[in-house]
Amino acid sequence: MVSTVDGMTNVSNSSTSNTAGSPADPTTAPARPAKVRKTDDQWRAELDPMEYAVLREAATERPFTGEYTDTKTQGVYYCRACGATLFTSAEKFDSHCGWPSFYAPTEDDNVTLIEDRSFGSVRTEVRCATCDSHLGHVFAGEGYATPTDQRWCINSVALRLEPVTPESAGPDSPTA
Ligand SMILES: [Zn+2]
Repeated sequence: MVSTVDGMTNVSNSSTSNTAGSPADPTTAPARPAKVRKTDDQWRAELDPMEYAVLREAATERPFTGEYTDTKTQGVYYCRACGATLFTSAEKFDSHCGWPSFYAPTEDDNVTLIEDRSFGSVRTEVRCATCDSHLGHVFAGEGYATPTDQRWCINSVALRLEPVTPESAGPDSPTA
């Protein structure tokens, strides 16, 4: 990958320091997608006021008002701020708590968990690992009959559902 740069052809061979590479450069690490970092003004311009309040100020939408609270549509839920994959309909379940609930994220690496001591209790905040936007909270041990006994309680406005089409859902998809 070393290419000859015109301006460097006359550099003396005795000098080696200014041509050294930077092997520790984190931007070349292939393991994870690039983080999304934007200024507050950029987020305000891109998000509507409700999205901004939830995603960037950790507000919570009112229960039973979100567009995905009872959604059964098969598909993938992406971060509304940055488009990262977060949840799928396969892990969504009826929690009757007023917000979309999942028993697990698609990948643990897709989310960041932060201890949240606001409102006089200790909860675990869920953020998008890619853009650090607030998504909701995760609760464990509540007795839901799910594989993890976890409730990932996520604001609808923090998500964007992309329905799976019948063609891409595979032959075992019963819905038309
Ligand atoms: Zn995000």
